[in-house]
Amino acid sequence: MRIFELVKVHNIIIKKRLTPHMIDSILEYNRKFVDSKAYEPFITDKYPEKKLAVLTCMDTRLTELLPKALGLRNGDAKIIKNAGGLVLSEKDSAIRSLLVAIYELGVNEVMVVHHSTCGACHMSYEEFKPHMLERGVAPDVLAEWEEKKDVGNWLEGFHDTENSVRKTVAAVVNHPLVPKDVVVRGFIIDSVTGELTEIK
Ligand SMILES: [Zn+2]
Repeated sequence: MRIFELVKVHNIIIKKRLTPHMIDSILEYNRKFVDSKAYEPFITDKYPEKKLAVLTCMDTRLTELLPKALGLRNGDAKIIKNAGGLVLSEKDSAIRSLLVAIYELGVNEVMVVHHSTCGACHMSYEEFKPHMLERGVAPDVLAEWEEKKDVGNWLEGFHDTENSVRKTVAAVVNHPLVPKDVVVRGFIIDSVTGELTEIK
């Protein structure tokens, strides 16, 4: 290892040690949470009481708003999240989670819930690319992902929320491994008021 590489590694280690991590304060909070038995109101089992699964976006505005606006408490529903609340392919992890929810956990209704001003709506690979290069992803690695792995489409946003809800509902309804008796309906939730609008 050359000297400047050693210095770089050393600096990274020092930086890691000196930077207080949010995770450390979360761990501290967690110890108090468990010690004070604050978990007691949340005790339930793994089977969703309302036999419901919700496929939605990871947006932080929805973290508490969505369950509250839908009247969902701990134990009521399986909530599956990703960027946008999308199903991108037939082996998408959202579909895998839904299959577990349906076959193993008794879910018989699915709500696809996208939301207003979603970050995944207008994202584009062209915006990701310079950030990736800046953060150390090698240009030849990116070129390979562009050429062989269709990274451009994979990281592209959906641009039309209503259409995206319809497409996602269709991807679930038409999935060959999803039983036909499962009810699947699509919605857009207002990211501020929590109001649901059904998309047909
Ligand atoms: Zn979103």
